[in-house]
Amino acid sequence: MTSNVDAAVPAMLADFLAYTLSGARPGPAEARGACAEGVSYAWLDEGVIELTPAARSDRHAMPVVLVSAGIHGDETAPLELVSRMIADIARGEVPLACVLWIVLGNVSAMRAGSRYLDDDLNRLFCGRHAQLTQSREAPRAHALEAAATRLFERAGCERERWHIDMHTAIRASVFERFALLPYTGAALSREMFAWLAEARIEAVLLHTAKGNTYTHFTAESFGAKACTLELGKVRPFGENDLSRYAGADDAMRALVSGRARADAAPMPRVFTVIGQITKHTDAFELLMADDVANFTPFAKGTVLARDANYCYAVTHAEERIVFPNRTVKPGLRAGLTVVETTAETLAELAR
Ligand code: ZN
Repeated sequence: MTSNVDAAVPAMLADFLAYTLSGARPGPAEARGACAEGVSYAWLDEGVIELTPAARSDRHAMPVVLVSAGIHGDETAPLELVSRMIADIARGEVPLACVLWIVLGNVSAMRAGSRYLDDDLNRLFCGRHAQLTQSREAPRAHALEAAATRLFERAGCERERWHIDMHTAIRASVFERFALLPYTGAALSREMFAWLAEARIEAVLLHTAKGNTYTHFTAESFGAKACTLELGKVRPFGENDLSRYAGADDAMRALVSGRARADAAPMPRVFTVIGQITKHTDAFELLMADDVANFTPFAKGTVLARDANYCYAVTHAEERIVFPNRTVKPGLRAGLTVVETTAETLAELAR
């Protein structure tokens, strides 16, 4: 038996993150090739790579999976996870049972060690980049939309489509690992919830309005089972304790290798967005500590924010704050409020 471990793994695949950060671009001879187990690879754009399983009879029924990381350039742990997974696939240590595209999102911001250069990339999808043509993030949003379009349109509608977009949060959270599901009007996917449970996601946030995120784009445009994962706090490259991300890492590897699920993990709690706190003017005040944890609950009547002509007070028995950020530009979201809807959401999935 030949050992796959001995097969030379191209530098690009051995450390795709370092390769991408270096600014290297493959020549025509290096852009495509084969690695262990007949997996073929193709470099498609800066930070975008395709891995395709060996030809076999069921290949055309395999799922199509997009895994993105670093849409915010300073969210380093997921970049390290996906880069390691690429190397493990290339060495034959993780079998591949899907067409897999890996996207490293905001590469320029990664090099600068920052979340973004001009604008939050994850607010520029669904065509919004066309309104911000001066932004250094606009061409990247356009390129990443084009990549997802190329992948999912080619897949044909009978194939399962998944999009896992991995992030780490700026702030602490009552639930360390949580997921956000985009709102498209379609029924929630039981498979997605089972996968989130397997990934040890503790809470799921259901959006109730359309957004401009990468997962919103793929869910709405292509019916992808799409989720945005928040996997803990941001740390610099090399300072991440990747064992803290083991649940999401294992579930991602299970998804791409078609591995059966254990099904023993508890379902996450579910929260539904019921309000948005918007910063309208520079007079805006967010009436909570700067370091308040995501999903911190507030009781009915509590005033959470004030602005020139506006105030947000809690109207439900309990509302929780998610993504509070007083420093956003006027006109943008300074926080979301959610209420718990676990029982009704899980009952709906079970039908
Ligand atoms: Zn993020």
